[in-house]
Amino acid sequence: MSPIVPLQFAPPRGPAPACTTAEGDLWFSDRPADVETAKALCQQCRLRAGCLAGALQRREAAGVWGGQLFVEGVVVARKRGPGRPRKERPLAAVPCAGAPPAG
Ligand code: SF4
Repeated sequence: MSPIVPLQFAPPRGPAPACTTAEGDLWFSDRPADVETAKALCQQCRLRAGCLAGALQRREAAGVWGGQLFVEGVVVARKRGPGRPRKERPLAAVPCAGAPPAG
């Protein structure tokens, strides 16, 4: 018969996830440098694969999960900054109605 070990005396299975020990705001920060730091810390986490799978399944609305940044349920490379979105084409490429034809 094995001895009953109370949970508080059970040996730890590994280091605690960084998101529970480090500055927790990094995982939900608006600053790109903070987000990249959180993503890097996730790469060393033993729970990363499961964390990412769960976040994908839940379609997390925001934050870094499993080393990926989520915005409105999808993984994105980086969060868009505040303000008006960039135009698709530079102004010089937009034809002007009053300009003579090129060539
Ligand atoms: S992988 Fe998940 S559990 Fe691990 S540090 Fe990143 S957010 Fe936290």
